[in-house]
Amino acid sequence: LWAGMLEQLKKVLPKPIYETWFVSSLIPTSYENDVLVLAAAQKFVCNFVNKNYADQLNEAAEAVTGRPTTVKLEDMNAPAAEPAKPAETDDLYKDTLFSDEDLPKAPPKKKAEPEPKAVMVKEANESISPPPEEPTTEDNLIPNYTFDNFIVGNSNRIAYSIAASVAEAPAKKYNPLYIYGGSGLGKTHLMHAIGHQILKNFPHMRLRCITSEDFVNDFIQAIQDKNTENFRQQYRNIDVLLVDDIQFLGQGDKDSSKEEFFHTFNKLYQGQKQMVFTSDRPPLDIKSLEDRLRSRFQSGTVTGIEPPDLETRTAILRTWAQKEKINIDKDAINYIAANVSDNIRDLYGAYNNVLSMASIEKNDVTLSLTQRALKYLVAEKEEKKYITIDEITSSVCRFYSVNYNELMGKKRTKNIALARQVAMYLCRELTGNTYPHIGTAFSGRDHTTVMHACEKITKMMNDSDTFKEMIERLKEKILDVDK
Ligand code: ADP
Ligand code: MG
Repeated sequence: LWAGMLEQLKKVLPKPIYETWFVSSLIPTSYENDVLVLAAAQKFVCNFVNKNYADQLNEAAEAVTGRPTTVKLEDMNAPAAEPAKPAETDDLYKDTLFSDEDLPKAPPKKKAEPEPKAVMVKEANESISPPPEEPTTEDNLIPNYTFDNFIVGNSNRIAYSIAASVAEAPAKKYNPLYIYGGSGLGKTHLMHAIGHQILKNFPHMRLRCITSEDFVNDFIQAIQDKNTENFRQQYRNIDVLLVDDIQFLGQGDKDSSKEEFFHTFNKLYQGQKQMVFTSDRPPLDIKSLEDRLRSRFQSGTVTGIEPPDLETRTAILRTWAQKEKINIDKDAINYIAANVSDNIRDLYGAYNNVLSMASIEKNDVTLSLTQRALKYLVAEKEEKKYITIDEITSSVCRFYSVNYNELMGKKRTKNIALARQVAMYLCRELTGNTYPHIGTAFSGRDHTTVMHACEKITKMMNDSDTFKEMIERLKEKILDVDK
């Protein structure tokens, strides 16, 4: 049955999706009473397939069996399920997760020299300063770069899951692991988090965390000191090797260090030691890399991190503020999230500038303070209109001729209930706030109420073009305020 279904799916799905999410990640485990159960290697595979391809799966099953068939997905790691994992799942994520278009093609830039925090405070309203240089521990791991401090969103969820698996079982799956993505998206953070977690889980393991430049410099130094033996001991006699920004390896005339790296790699690989690499681009795009090294990287797991979406940016800012117990107006958070979109490093810079200004002015973090603090990076005409929940609710009130108290209240007359649900839906669409957050703004309603409202309005829009047009008009009106 499954083989037949795969034939069907192959016809309707894009090849990379078909191969990554179906062929190598799902295994049929039972078929009884018209219910087919498929096991997935990991929970997020279940979620992803369920969310996006449930219909295709059911259709494929029906096409093969000729009867209505339900397809269920199961996480094979769930407590009750079989713990054994088939070998094929190892190359689950091989090289197909993101297309090359998702990546910046620019040549690698050296990082600007970080400035100390004190300077940043003084210049808060003039320029964005990179985060201060992070201190490291003995093993070169930056203390703050832990899984605990890594906020997971759609843009980094897969990379995070794989990184977490590596830390739980080094060199078992996903080896070598290659993480790529644009600057400031969290590659270094994630790699250090793996390091911390491995040392926590396996304190006896010897771990080395370096940048590719460190490797080259160490090697050159070793040659000068005529001490390559010692160098080799240090790099080959370990259990875990983490190398950041591998794209710098082999740039320019560094043949001997490339060669050395290749041997280091092979030695560790043969010894079944975990290796993790990061880069600003996928292996294929590192021109300076020799083919043999490139294919070594590709033989492992390659995964990407994408720029954070609005919802993730909002969640990250909120988490930072909560962690530091800083009270930031929700509009201020939403303003930063709407206007700083490229990467998490810039988001952190903006966040710090806002806090600096608040501390200089001994003021609360309000929307207007935030707007002033971020003037340097948000050109006035390009300023992203950040829509507040209040703006949405007052537009909806006008549109449906209900008053604010009615909208927030408990009455369920048809018109009021509809207006309320439309308002919740628009809040979700236009502010990137989470369901619980919107629920709170609507007199402390439960997040399931908001979810239900969003689902209902979405369905009504799908069912009726007139209704859909009306909502679109209302949306435009709201977005047009103040223009
Ligand atoms: P990259 O190595 O990809 O250029 P970094 O790992 O140096 O990026 O991340 C840049 C900054 O953003 C760091 O301060 C890091 O802690 C922070 N950061 C990145 N991703 C996250 C995340 N998902 N959650 C919390 N902080 C993050
Ligand atoms: Mg980095």
